[in-house]
Amino acid sequence: MASASHYDYLIVGQGLAGSLLAWRLLQQEKRVLVVDDGHATASSMVAAGLINPLAGMRFNHSPFVHEWLAAVEQTYGELAGMAGEPFLQWLDMVRLFRSSEQVRFYERQRARTETADLLGRRLDAEDFPQPVHAPWGGFEQKRTGWVRLPRLLAFMARWLEGKGALRRERLNHDDLVLRDDGIAWKDATARHLVFCDGYRSMHNPWFDWLPFAPDQGEILTLKRNANLPLPDRIINGATWLLPVDEGRFRLGATHYHDRQDNRATEEGKQKLLAGMETLLLHPDALELEKNEAGVRPATADRQPFIGSHPEFQQLHMFNGFGAHGSLTIPWYARRMVEWLSEGKELPKNANIQRYS
Ligand SMILES: Cc1cc2nc3c(=O)[nH]c(=O)nc-3n(C[C@H](O)[C@H](O)[C@H](O)COP(=O)(O)OP(=O)(O)OC[C@H]3O[C@@H](n4cnc5c(N)ncnc54)[C@H](O)[C@@H]3O)c2cc1C
Repeated sequence: MASASHYDYLIVGQGLAGSLLAWRLLQQEKRVLVVDDGHATASSMVAAGLINPLAGMRFNHSPFVHEWLAAVEQTYGELAGMAGEPFLQWLDMVRLFRSSEQVRFYERQRARTETADLLGRRLDAEDFPQPVHAPWGGFEQKRTGWVRLPRLLAFMARWLEGKGALRRERLNHDDLVLRDDGIAWKDATARHLVFCDGYRSMHNPWFDWLPFAPDQGEILTLKRNANLPLPDRIINGATWLLPVDEGRFRLGATHYHDRQDNRATEEGKQKLLAGMETLLLHPDALELEKNEAGVRPATADRQPFIGSHPEFQQLHMFNGFGAHGSLTIPWYARRMVEWLSEGKELPKNANIQRYS
């Protein structure tokens, strides 16, 4: 008979990826232990949690976009029901054109029926409905919003703890022993080990062949300090601004590909504040509350890293969600569970087999 410290799955990392994967596995009555070092490097704790199905300069979309959105609605809704507090907030986005070329990209997307529910009307520069500078005009984007990630992670930590499924400590690779029937780590054994450890997986001795492309970012939290007009939608131009709770706004974000730490810098702050000056008609209405930084677990081909090690079948990866984890992790968590429990094929774009 299995001892109390024998698990089906040991999961490294309780960011959004590890939390949702653990939750889905526990729903299937698997024995799960999540190990997290107190979110020491969690990009989920810093992220704005924006849901933007048409990211990118050309407003392109993934073929999975509607499945992602359905999973977003269902997953965060289910979790809100469990927690008794909302995590997902739908809020329309106003997208600012940055060139006449982008107007053409918009018109092209607008002509497509499959994105009709995602694109709203075009907005003229002369009569712009938000207090922002919009020299090229813009358009409304639908089915956008944001997720209160720190609150979701705090709830998930309590819920996992209540099930005896969370240990708050760092897992060192040297302490792992690979066995024929799984792995051993300290006093625990497990049939499977899944790495959901964010960008730190790039230093993982079993998966160092995966081309991670970590993308450090800084983000500001601002507070309203004057009763001047400020946007009431998500504004997305060269800089984006998100109205959140209690008169606060998030402003982001920078991208540094040569940094791998969560230290916010004066340079990053000044860059973002300059972006705010260019964006808002009344930048003085906001004062800085805090600046933060984190490292997005991004990948060279901008697709997630999901799947099993080609040689050590007890080792798996559920990672690489880059700048869009809030939108994509709910759907990929289901695909990962189907792969682990039923051997159902993973989406090819995300399967790490593409590199092995
Ligand atoms: C500035 C910024 C803005 C962002 N904005 C958005 C946004 O608006 N929308 C969006 O969707 N995404 C955004 N992101 C990206 C988002 O954070 C990620 O897509 C997503 O949160 C990744 O979740 P994860 O669980 O894979 O990784 P993480 O959240 O990084 O979680 C990994 C966890 O594993 C732990 N860990 C790592 N190694 C170990 C170990 N050896 N032992 C124990 N624990 C370990 C870490 O401490 C952490 O808690 C942003 C990121 C940044 C930095």
